[in-house]
Amino acid sequence: MSQALNERAEIARQLRLHIQSADAIPVSNPPLQPVAARAEEESDLLSVEQDALSCTKCRLHETRSSVVFGVGCSDRPPIAFVGEGPGAEEDRQGEPFVGRAGALLTAAITKGLNLKREDVYICNVVKCRPPENRTPLPDEVASCLPYLQAQLRAVQPRVIVTLGAPAQKALTGEQGGITKIRGVWQEWEGFPLMPTFHPAYILRNASAKRPFWDDLQEVMRHLGMENK
Ligand code: SF4
Repeated sequence: MSQALNERAEIARQLRLHIQSADAIPVSNPPLQPVAARAEEESDLLSVEQDALSCTKCRLHETRSSVVFGVGCSDRPPIAFVGEGPGAEEDRQGEPFVGRAGALLTAAITKGLNLKREDVYICNVVKCRPPENRTPLPDEVASCLPYLQAQLRAVQPRVIVTLGAPAQKALTGEQGGITKIRGVWQEWEGFPLMPTFHPAYILRNASAKRPFWDDLQEVMRHLGMENK
């Protein structure tokens, strides 16, 4: 096991001890309940990540260099961005959205929304790079989806933003093209969800930049953070 995994396992162990000690405190002490619940969610996230890091459930594990799990704020972030899958640079660095499309998303977060990358959560539907950046196949999405579902439940974002039709389809089963469904609020397991364009699409179609930005501003309005 790598040093990073060892460190994460130790954090998970300490969180479990924290949960156990919090559980031992009488339930009439309300301020400790959210702390225990939060610690449990953090522990769940670490455990899901550990499972994903050694996953061989679909053929994508054969060609990956890294499992790209997710980065950013894992404690009720304002936004969780969900893309399709890692590209070459993401596969190399083990971090989502660090290539050209990632630079565009980062600029939107930092310059447009006035947030830091670490203020939000960023992940993908599949955690391993599809060869030649092809769209993940249905069986690959089906194999990987439980990781995404578990990480969103653990992170508890205030809003989910799906980037591109494949991410939207994976979470909600929506079949429509992104130009038709973007900008209209939906829901996943009670979380408000806004579908919009994938940054890679915007790099190829400059006309998508304006609606992409409109969608993000609508998200900020929903969050009451439009003037931040
Ligand atoms: S893409 Fe997902 S399901 Fe497939 S090997 Fe990677 S982590 Fe496992």
